[in-house]
Amino acid sequence: MAFTRATGKHRRPSRLTRRSANMAGVAALATTGVIGGLTSPALAADSDISADAAHAVQDTGLTQAIVIGDSLADQIAAQADQQKRAAVKAEAARKAEAERKAEAKRKAEAKAKAEAEARAKKEREERAAKERAAREAERKRLGGYTLPVAGSVVTTGYKTGGNLWSSGSHSGVDFRAASGSSVVAVGAGTVVEAGWGGAYGNNIVIRMNDGTYTQYGHLSSLGVSVGQSVASGQQIGLSGSTGNSTGPHLHFEARTSPEYGSDMDPVAYLRAHGVNV
Ligand SMILES: [Zn+2]
Repeated sequence: MAFTRATGKHRRPSRLTRRSANMAGVAALATTGVIGGLTSPALAADSDISADAAHAVQDTGLTQAIVIGDSLADQIAAQADQQKRAAVKAEAARKAEAERKAEAKRKAEAKAKAEAEARAKKEREERAAKERAAREAERKRLGGYTLPVAGSVVTTGYKTGGNLWSSGSHSGVDFRAASGSSVVAVGAGTVVEAGWGGAYGNNIVIRMNDGTYTQYGHLSSLGVSVGQSVASGQQIGLSGSTGNSTGPHLHFEARTSPEYGSDMDPVAYLRAHGVNV
């Protein structure tokens, strides 16, 4: 009997699908010579598709009677199965492709992010290197700072009180220095005063390259003249006890201007310039 298996997993497909399948099946079978020469009433046995089947026969111009048996229904069902499996397979392939693309996109994004981070890191490093180079250039321009008397120590501190000083307190610090010790510029600058300075005796004032001033007093001799550029550590005179002094030493001041009274803490000044004092 034809089409007795319209239940179960082969539940009836749409009329159009079924009709198309039948036609395809008929056409396929017709070419192989499987069908032909049979009577038409068999087609009408299945009321569900009889009209369509008949219609299909008329549409395709097949006026010859055709019987579609169980084997053909099986083949049609198998074909439908095959198409369904192909569709499932295609969907799986589509999903796999979409996942592959998503994964590739994630990887590309991660790569781009890593590259951007690497670029940023390189830029930071280059900037830091430039800043270091700039600081080094500035340090060279100013010249490294040094003690005014090599290896000396402070014997009388800044702002120490006493009647020895006209202002009532010490405007600088005293460095221990035997008479005739080498006195050097603590940093690079230009000599703005070199001569007798009253209570300071023979004294030198240098305008440093950073705009501050340093003063060296009680010298026994002067080795530089006004307008002369001096480098850090360059000898500018010899220590002594000239002026208002109780014995050989170097009186050293740091100032914001060349004038007496604009003094600042010389120890803090030297330390700020990296001198160990
Ligand atoms: Zn002093």
